[in-house]
This record gives sequence, structure tokens and C-alpha cells, in this order.
Amino acid sequence: MKIRFHVVVILCVLAIAAAAVAFAARSSRGQSRRANSKTSAKPAVRVTDSSSTKASAFTAAAGQNAVLRNDLTWTFGGKPQRGWYLYDLLISKTLNTDHDPVSNNFAEELAGWQKKRRLSADGVLDQDVLMALVSQWQSARLKNRAPAQPDQLVTAPPSDFYDPGRAAELRQVERNAYEAYKEMIAAAAADLKLAPTSKYLKIVSSYRSREYQDQLRKNSPNSGSAGLAVNSPHFTGRALDVYVGGSPVDTNDSNRAIQVNTPAYKWLVRHAERFGFRPYFYEPWHWEYVK
Ligand SMILES: [Zn+2]
Repeated sequence: MKIRFHVVVILCVLAIAAAAVAFAARSSRGQSRRANSKTSAKPAVRVTDSSSTKASAFTAAAGQNAVLRNDLTWTFGGKPQRGWYLYDLLISKTLNTDHDPVSNNFAEELAGWQKKRRLSADGVLDQDVLMALVSQWQSARLKNRAPAQPDQLVTAPPSDFYDPGRAAELRQVERNAYEAYKEMIAAAAADLKLAPTSKYLKIVSSYRSREYQDQLRKNSPNSGSAGLAVNSPHFTGRALDVYVGGSPVDTNDSNRAIQVNTPAYKWLVRHAERFGFRPYFYEPWHWEYVK
């Protein structure tokens, strides 16, 4: 009898404890559900519904992006262009996304960017969107293109150059740009574990005098306005062409496709801004000191 009574008491205690635990779990779930529904504006059920409609909308956009990324036809500097895959990294940086450029998530992030710019927020990276991106990148470039005065220039040592045999007058850089470049290159060398003999991020071309630029234009008359500009930012001494792989300064798509995939270029896209350098989207090697 005594034992049975004890068993009954123990069972009752266990049952009450179990009920209490179950109740506590239920109410804490309830609280977190309430907390969740407080943070999102819509009730949980509707959020699920609208995100699944969204997902299917962006699936279609992602499908279009997969085609346009390789095939969109557009013009830059008077030259026909094809696709935007060469600018994947710059686009992702601008949209502040890590998602694959042909994914639904990317399309959704793009739609957010489009909305902010009052473009149709469909998540499709078509010609209008690409032009908006290009104009944003172009407007972030060096504004003051006044030619450098001799006292603003320093002559960098041959070891900073892709071609160490370059003449002293072709190794000049604007003083502040050079200081920033040296800081940037030290950070890049550490991050990328570049050997001292590595050509990556060495300077291919820096300050160019107007006379020298005219000579370059004469030597390559077909380079067009996307190539050797009449009013080159290189006159300022603040534009640097650095080695990012492939053929150093060749705008052929196949060459640029190599360049935009090197660790050196990827590093620049991620970090150069911190040192005051901004890209020229069309030439992966060309960076301008804008501070
Ligand atoms: Zn350049």
C-alpha cells in the first residue's frame, strides 16, 4: 500500500511537472511568435504568401538576367558591347550583394536598388539598368582633371613598375596618389601574399603629359574614345594603370574576362575605395585617386 501510494504521488508530481514544462514551452513559443509578428508589419501567414509570389516573380527575372548577362547588346565609347558579365563584381559591390548575378536573390536585391532610383523595380538587369549603373560609376570618377604641375609630381622607383625599365619621366605620380598607392599595395601584398617579384598591382602607367598622350594616340589611332582619351585623367598624375593580369591594357573582352577574375582585381574592387581609389569600370587596370 505504502509503495503504491508513493508511486501514485510520484506519478502525479511528474504529470504536473510535465504539464508545467509543456505550458512553459507553449507560452514561450507564443511569445516569440508574438515578438516576430510585432517586428514584421504583416501577419506571419501573409508574409509567407507574399514571399512565395515574390520568389516566382524573381525566378523569371533571374532567367532573363541569365540571358542578358551574356547577350545584352549596348554601346560604349562608340563600340558595340555584349553582355554585362565583365562587370559582375562592380555590380555586386554597387548593389551591396554577395548573391550570384543570375540568382533570384540577386534579382530581388536589384529590384530594391531600382526602386530607390525610381526605375521599374522588376529585378531585370537590362540596358536601362546597366546605363544607370554605368553613369553612377562614371560620376564617381575623378572630377578635377587639371594637369599636374611639376611640383605636384614625384618620381617613383623602377621597382614600383610593371616594366622596371621605364624612363624616369614615365614614372611620375601625383604626390598624394603615390602615398595612397603605396599604402594600398602594402595592404594588398599582405592580404594576397604577393611575392616581392610578383607583377600584380605594379604600375603599368601613371602620369602622362599631353605630348606623350598625343604620341600614344598617333601610335594607336583606332583606340577610340573608350581607349586613349583626349582629356585623359592620366594628365593629373592621379590615375594609375596597375597590372591585374592578362595583357596589361587590352580592352578585348577575352582579356578583360581574365583580368576581372584575378585575385588582384577582386581585391581592388573590395578594398581600393578605402585608400581613395575608384575604378574605371571599362578598364579593370585603371584606377583613379579621388581624394
Ligand atoms: Zn589608365
